[in-house]
Amino acid sequence: MTPVLLVVDADAQARAETESALARRFGSDYSVLSADSVSAGLATLERLARAGTPVVLVAADLHLPDMGGVDFLERAHQLHRDTSRVLLVTMDRHGTRIPFTELATLQRVTALGLIDMVVVKGWVTPEEWLYPQVQEALTAWTLAHGPRHVVYRIVGDQWAPRSHQLRDLLSRNGVPFEFAAADSDRGRQLLRDFRIDAGRLPAVIHSSGRVLYDPAPADLAASHGIATRPSQPVYDLAVLGAGPAGLAAAVYGASEGLRTLVIEPKAIGGQAGTSSMIRNYPGFTRGVAGAELAHRAWEQAVLFGAEFIFTPPSIVRATTLLSAATAAETYMATRKPANSCSPSLDSTAPSNAVAMSPPVRATALLKPDAIATCCSSTEPSTDEVRGATAMVIPSAITRIIGNIPVQ
Ligand SMILES: Cc1cc2nc3c(=O)[nH]c(=O)nc-3n(C[C@H](O)[C@H](O)[C@H](O)COP(=O)(O)OP(=O)(O)OC[C@H]3O[C@@H](n4cnc5c(N)ncnc54)[C@H](O)[C@@H]3O)c2cc1C
Repeated sequence: MTPVLLVVDADAQARAETESALARRFGSDYSVLSADSVSAGLATLERLARAGTPVVLVAADLHLPDMGGVDFLERAHQLHRDTSRVLLVTMDRHGTRIPFTELATLQRVTALGLIDMVVVKGWVTPEEWLYPQVQEALTAWTLAHGPRHVVYRIVGDQWAPRSHQLRDLLSRNGVPFEFAAADSDRGRQLLRDFRIDAGRLPAVIHSSGRVLYDPAPADLAASHGIATRPSQPVYDLAVLGAGPAGLAAAVYGASEGLRTLVIEPKAIGGQAGTSSMIRNYPGFTRGVAGAELAHRAWEQAVLFGAEFIFTPPSIVRATTLLSAATAAETYMATRKPANSCSPSLDSTAPSNAVAMSPPVRATALLKPDAIATCCSSTEPSTDEVRGATAMVIPSAITRIIGNIPVQ
């Protein structure tokens, strides 16, 4: 069943322009339909719902007679829950991407989550104003509903904790996979095709055909080509944790030419990676899935030269201790020992962002005994890691950048 894109606009010329532009670009994969009124649009949507035809996107003019575009999109959403709701707005005399004359309405419907995007009508070329937004919606829909690239197939008991943990690990790291319950038709087929020992489930089948039985996270990472040990003995910047803060530190550090290492024991993206839609991240007007945001930041950091390793916290502790020991030694040789054991800022330290003039500046220095306290706990807690999101090791001094209050 060919998925549908529907345009609803009472303005005949504007409707024809939008419809023909969409048909030219997307017509081979989608049926592009149009309606000139609310009643005609709803009739089409009801017919498609009855037939089970997916409607990927509905674009409606803000000022539809009878109902208004926003209310119409709400009705469309009730009939087709996965559709993207596009509000078409006429360009005003200012020629801006958000027509100021409609600003109050657009702010209200965005805040209430009543639409997914705004597209301005009256463009010179759809390449600039229409296609990028529409393509984004189509990509998101296809990833959720269509066949997609798969690296791993997991076969296991549907409700077993280990099956859940493996799915969680791959999802949170954005690794495409398929799960099949061992007692399903698909599961039985995979067990047969790959001659899997059903007594050792869950089994993870790599796209190469290799089967891993109940793999530890590090084994799974290694099979995916992810490093679990640093490749160099010394780095300028070591970032603990690949949540949004760590990813940002990695992008800035690597883009400034610092030899940057990111150490993450669980998943790229941290907490944010589990969010289905983040609406308040700067630059993403229509919102972005946490996993997508994390993947983009990871890609950016890697292309700038950052190295990521996936490793259990025990290794992180060893790495931290090593750098902290060196730092403490040097610090003690150059400054008076600190009295306090709680992490605190050295007010004599230069207070600049890591991205500035490496390797002589950093946001803060931790006093050596504070470093020792942080690093000697048997298992660093998330709070400790949050307090020490990034650690710079220029030559010998350990520098901490993170959620430490700046004096
Ligand atoms: C479901 C959900 C939805 C959310 N939605 C939004 C939203 O829409 N907007 C918004 O602003 N905020 C949102 N948040 C909050 C946001 O995700 C967090 O504020 C943000 O992730 C914090 O970033 P962080 O990098 O400081 O820490 P975290 O995201 O917590 O990342 C810390 C990282 O450090 C790693 N780590 C832990 N221990 C160690 C160790 N010993 N060594 C090395 N690494 C370690 C962890 O595995 C983790 O990856 C949401 C959170 C959740 C859970």
